[in-house]
Amino acid sequence: MSTALDKAAAGATPPAKDPLAHISAALFVPMGVYGVYARTALYLSVRDRLDAYISAMRDPTAEVMRFPPVMSRAQLEKSGYLKSFPNLLGCVCALHGTEASIRTAADRHESGGDWTAALTSSDLVLSPAACYPVYPIVAARGGRLPPGGLLFDIDADVFRHEPSLNLDRLQSFRMREFVRIGSPQAILEFREAWIARAPVIANDLGLPFTIEVANDAFFGRVGQVMAVSQRQQALKFEMLIPYHTKASPTACMSFNYHREHFGNVWSIHDEQGEKAHTSCVAFGIDRLSVALFAVHGLDVTRWPAATRQALAL
Ligand code: 5GP
Ligand code: ZN
Repeated sequence: MSTALDKAAAGATPPAKDPLAHISAALFVPMGVYGVYARTALYLSVRDRLDAYISAMRDPTAEVMRFPPVMSRAQLEKSGYLKSFPNLLGCVCALHGTEASIRTAADRHESGGDWTAALTSSDLVLSPAACYPVYPIVAARGGRLPPGGLLFDIDADVFRHEPSLNLDRLQSFRMREFVRIGSPQAILEFREAWIARAPVIANDLGLPFTIEVANDAFFGRVGQVMAVSQRQQALKFEMLIPYHTKASPTACMSFNYHREHFGNVWSIHDEQGEKAHTSCVAFGIDRLSVALFAVHGLDVTRWPAATRQALAL
């Protein structure tokens, strides 16, 4: 069921007063719903180079997997997502039933009625973050980590139901992640190493940045308590980039420590037999790409030499 905001968004483009309006038309083609865009060739020419830049940083031991935009609903439910972010989740629904009942439901559309009333949920949801499918895959392989643990390089087009006209708040966006599963010490080392590397990445890309403790936007009043606890334990850091001088900075990367949450849920154990700890480093591919254009302009031939070199442009 689409919201009033979704419905109002047919052909939506960011408002002219948006400081990113001057770059939006060259990068994104509106698709009739807030926060959902086709990407242009210019945009992809940079996004693909950014992907290659990230691949070049990949540890050779990482297992590479690319996920579709959907995942198992049962797996996401088991991961506890509904406790934390029920408001953001998109569930895939379909017309189930006999040929006659499906025909009747679909025909309601032709007669001006609401065909969506007949939809029922399928066993899929739209992935709200890239890493959720990794943990059940490890569990299905036996759940016992090899010495030293595991490392994955993954990505997915993810969905979060947050309709917005802002170019940095998309409903459908690309998330690339390095995910580490191992002993608490291995996990903390992994996250520290990536936080230490973040300034190098920002400098390579020629982007202004800060790195700060952060919290996820947990749902509701209980969520506020969860957010405070997450901050107190410093479980999440973000790399924030201002898109222009007056902009409040946008989170373009996150460095997350889930402690033993996924080890518990999926019965994954490290080589000592302890519950595995996990961490993920997430690159907001779309936010980083927009940041590059917002800061350096639309003409990539005029970008700083160091940025062009880092991206092999
Ligand atoms: P997180 O799981 O930490 O919320 O998201 C990981 C990364 O995805 C963020 O650091 C950010 O770069 C990106 N991201 C989160 N929400 C959005 C969004 O609404 N739009 C876009 N384009 N990227 C997002
Ligand atoms: Zn993750």
